[in-house]
Amino acid sequence: MREKPRMATAALLAAGFVFLVNGGAATGQTPTMTAAKTPVHAKIVKRLLIRNAMVIYGNAEPAFGPTSVCIEDGKIARVGGAPRGWTPDAEIDATGKYVMPGIINGHIHLQDERGGIPQPFQYEMNLYLAAGATTIRDVGASWEKAKEWRAKSADHSLVAPRILLYERTWASRGSHTAALVREGVRFAKEQGVDGLKLSGMDRDLAEALMDEAKKQGLRTAVHIAVDETTAKDWAELGVTSIEHFYGVADAALDGIQNFPPEHNASNEIHRFGRAGELYIQPNLNRQKLSAVLDLMVKNNVFWCPTLSIYVASRDVIRAQNQPWFKDYLHPTLEQYFRPDMRNHGSYFLGWTNTQEVRWKKNYQVWMDALKEFGVKGGNITVGDDAGFIYSIYGFGQVHEMELLEEAGFHPLEVIKMATVNGAKMIGMEDRLGRVRQGFIADLLVVNGNPLENLRLLNPYGTDVVAYDGKVVDNYGPLVPGDPKVKVVRGGGIEWTIKDGIPYHVPTLMKEVKAMVEEGRAKRATK
Ligand SMILES: [Zn+2]
Repeated sequence: MREKPRMATAALLAAGFVFLVNGGAATGQTPTMTAAKTPVHAKIVKRLLIRNAMVIYGNAEPAFGPTSVCIEDGKIARVGGAPRGWTPDAEIDATGKYVMPGIINGHIHLQDERGGIPQPFQYEMNLYLAAGATTIRDVGASWEKAKEWRAKSADHSLVAPRILLYERTWASRGSHTAALVREGVRFAKEQGVDGLKLSGMDRDLAEALMDEAKKQGLRTAVHIAVDETTAKDWAELGVTSIEHFYGVADAALDGIQNFPPEHNASNEIHRFGRAGELYIQPNLNRQKLSAVLDLMVKNNVFWCPTLSIYVASRDVIRAQNQPWFKDYLHPTLEQYFRPDMRNHGSYFLGWTNTQEVRWKKNYQVWMDALKEFGVKGGNITVGDDAGFIYSIYGFGQVHEMELLEEAGFHPLEVIKMATVNGAKMIGMEDRLGRVRQGFIADLLVVNGNPLENLRLLNPYGTDVVAYDGKVVDNYGPLVPGDPKVKVVRGGGIEWTIKDGIPYHVPTLMKEVKAMVEEGRAKRATK
């Protein structure tokens, strides 16, 4: 079961109280009694009705409702009242809840081990579904395993989001000549990848690769390194998406980053320490930066910044003490997060305040660049890159959205990035990312209004304020000392629906907790 504060909220809801979010926008209808049953977790249902929901469409238009969403055979059959004679097999009462499109997480890694220690694959899949990810784009995993997971997710024999694989299989036979690179791209296509994951390359090789990728109709995601090619090169060559933040500022420097002579790119402390100085280099030329962003917009390059994966660098004490670690941090991941120069991203050995301060400033300039890119019409997407640097799968995703709000975007825009923009990046915008009739029924039923607080999307839930048992706006007329004012755990997603199949988030999280407990018990007996 869930912990006590959550129980309290659940009990309030069961007693007929509703979330009074945004002044009670969701309370316009009296619930009608019907015979249809609550859906069964992870079980295919032919006709599913979501009743009395506020709807966030996905394209940054304001929410509307309350209304119904009818789902049939995995598709959205109708948004609005159920057609006459259409009887649902199961029904979700969404009174006081918000329905939005499922999230497309554009940057994840499928993992069933960390640092060679096994970790249940289901742990990661449950967490992503619980955080509302209905589609995940893997950008680097073990190919043989990953293609099996993708197939099982597609035929619903695995409880998991829809999986897309952008892999590095193209480089498996060498990547140091143009001919090898082209051969590798054709090989990857035959193997059945959904796209290519690229990292820093010399310009001539990048040209060959991008040319062949276009011929083969493959999308591309590049993690630019400190490298000969920058975001300018990749935008010129028509890459689909730029991951992280590297390469963008590099294209805007008058010269290169001022690395000290002892800098060693194979040393994780050097690498991540100096990465936090990239956007604050004195030779960063703002006009050049704007020009690079313009080029990215012009050539329709998506930017998946993965802001959340680096935040530990600006506040490591916060990162090490996230409240959901208590019940939901698997011991394998816990071990991997410990400072150790051998583990990618575990670079917090003697991390200093000065390093954090530089990272904080780095974030400010980086976020300004993101804001400029977005305002100019650039497509930003949401990806969490979790499994590294104190970021747990899915928890990183909601944090990513919180940080995009910090970068200056309205929550409606942030949700668009997580849905409509994500769908465009993977070429599925004709069937994913909107609460639209005929689209795939990938939907979230959220406890409360995520536009009021994106943190409601956290699988752990979040603190909300209740007055006399009803959740209220904390800017409401609350009086200090009033005993009717209480802090309770609220929020969370109640149902994540993928391909029309409802997944009950509290059940997913209960399973996650059990996996963590089992892992800890095993470790204790060793
Ligand atoms: Zn990554």
